[in-house]
Amino acid sequence: MSASVLRFIACLMLLATAVPAMAGLKIVATTGMVGDVAAQIGGEHATVTTLCGEGVDPHLYTPRASDVRRIMAADLVLYNGLMLEGRMDEVFKRAAEQGKLVRPVAEVLKKEILLADPEHEGHPDPHVWMDVRAWMQVADGITKSMCEADPANCAAYQANAKVYKRKLDVLDNFVRNSLRSVPRNRRVLVTAHDAFSYFGRAYNIEVIGVQGISTESEAGLADVNGLVDILVEQKIPAVFVESSVSDKYVRALIEGAAARGHTVTVGGELFSDAMGKPGTREGTYMGMMAHNGETITKALGGIVPFVAGVNDHDATGH
Ligand SMILES: [Zn+2]
Repeated sequence: MSASVLRFIACLMLLATAVPAMAGLKIVATTGMVGDVAAQIGGEHATVTTLCGEGVDPHLYTPRASDVRRIMAADLVLYNGLMLEGRMDEVFKRAAEQGKLVRPVAEVLKKEILLADPEHEGHPDPHVWMDVRAWMQVADGITKSMCEADPANCAAYQANAKVYKRKLDVLDNFVRNSLRSVPRNRRVLVTAHDAFSYFGRAYNIEVIGVQGISTESEAGLADVNGLVDILVEQKIPAVFVESSVSDKYVRALIEGAAARGHTVTVGGELFSDAMGKPGTREGTYMGMMAHNGETITKALGGIVPFVAGVNDHDATGH
């Protein structure tokens, strides 16, 4: 190799290390699920900051002064919308009024796709990421917003989105095939709060949340005795806790069923409104959904298939 080529390579390496950490399109996202999609589509061209981390409940999240500063410094602000982040609405409104590009990503979905929130008339259920096919449409909307914010890199965003959506398609089939193996009479998913209605519709399982759509009030709290009746009568073997919601009502169900001679176990922890720890498989949207599908399937007596890129060695890292 000639000296000039070596000098050129050394120069490139210097340039690479000189690029600041906040390079490219600066995106602020609320939930990890929204942030992960933006990061997958953005690749090297975008830096994504997520406000609601592991175990954080977006229904209850109140923005801190530092969050507001981050939002005001961003090129693009992505939030779920459909009233998921009820306590952040004011901040988003103010940012939009000041000319900031602020997008409620779930609100691209057509009305026919949205499910109602029985507790709040006129407000759709915001948990749309639980249906992978619906989330693929949201990914398209996020791509459009990123192109709007950064037209120079639009082709790269579109190419990344295409690759990512192919993976999401595999994930969708994985979850569907897993749940399909659960015996019909056991296809009942009892969880801490009503985050799984889209999941239930997409993957054909009846869903019962002990708390309502939002964790904000206890008004939607289902009759615990009525739920115990269902567990006992249908011989449901397992109920599930959620990483971002208190398990106290789920525990009450287990005790209630035990008092009537029916053993119900905790089928595992599901990731509903927040992803897992960063750096783990569950710390990604794909990983959290694969984990949910696997956990529910196994606890209710189904069989989980092995699928490349979802739960094989490369995907799980162990
Ligand atoms: Zn929720």
